[in-house]
Amino acid sequence: MNKSFLFSLVLSVAIILTSCQAPVNKPIPANLANATLYATLYQQQASEYKALCFQAFNLASLRLEEELLLKKSKPLAIVVDIDETVLDNSPYQAASIIGNFNYPIQWSEWMYSASAEAVPGAQEFLSYAAAKKVEVFYITNRKEEFKQVTIKNLNETNFPFADSIHVMTRTTSNDKEERRQQVLAKYDIVLFVGDNLGDFNSIFDETDASVRTTQTIENRKEFGKRWIVLPNACYGTWLNALPGYSNKISTDSLMIILKNNLKGF
Ligand SMILES: [Mg+2]
Repeated sequence: MNKSFLFSLVLSVAIILTSCQAPVNKPIPANLANATLYATLYQQQASEYKALCFQAFNLASLRLEEELLLKKSKPLAIVVDIDETVLDNSPYQAASIIGNFNYPIQWSEWMYSASAEAVPGAQEFLSYAAAKKVEVFYITNRKEEFKQVTIKNLNETNFPFADSIHVMTRTTSNDKEERRQQVLAKYDIVLFVGDNLGDFNSIFDETDASVRTTQTIENRKEFGKRWIVLPNACYGTWLNALPGYSNKISTDSLMIILKNNLKGF
């Protein structure tokens, strides 16, 4: 067998093997991923985003100081969400835009990298709470399979109470009420911190934008009091609640639906 024949044979086999590989991640059209381009840039680049996060945690500190002066029958706790509340997943969002894919493609890879950085002000606030002997529970809708890497990520970014008891991942339901009740059985929850209104109360899990708006107005006094909100324009129940929204339709159809939800003059 001469060298050139052998080379051709190896090359042919390589081409056949490559062409036989099943597509692991089916790319979605660019426009769909780029729907979040401005939101992702805002989260990564706008100082206003960081300022809003600092503002939220500064307010949380003031509220905690007030609560610490009151007499409580049970030990105190703070309940926080994880994604876009204490850990910043914008590198995943950015990679999805650059690589033209959408959630959940490559989400596992991002989770197992355990490399998310802290949301501005989050670590300082929760460390302050821990120093005041207030326990922190992380109620997240990350799946159980990501629990250990989430704990690793939280530990490496110096968050307190990053252990298997205090990190409460999603089990059967996205609804966080059952897990909130587990904490409430033993603790007085003085503050809830989250980027999605479902992090505060299940009334916001209603997938209808107008119902969510009504509930938000009715509960306006809770914001900045017991409920501390972080900004997240990239994703959340607010997006799924838009009339007609679906992540399973064509790019063109989605763009029409998104534009139909704009309020012009
Ligand atoms: Mg979140």
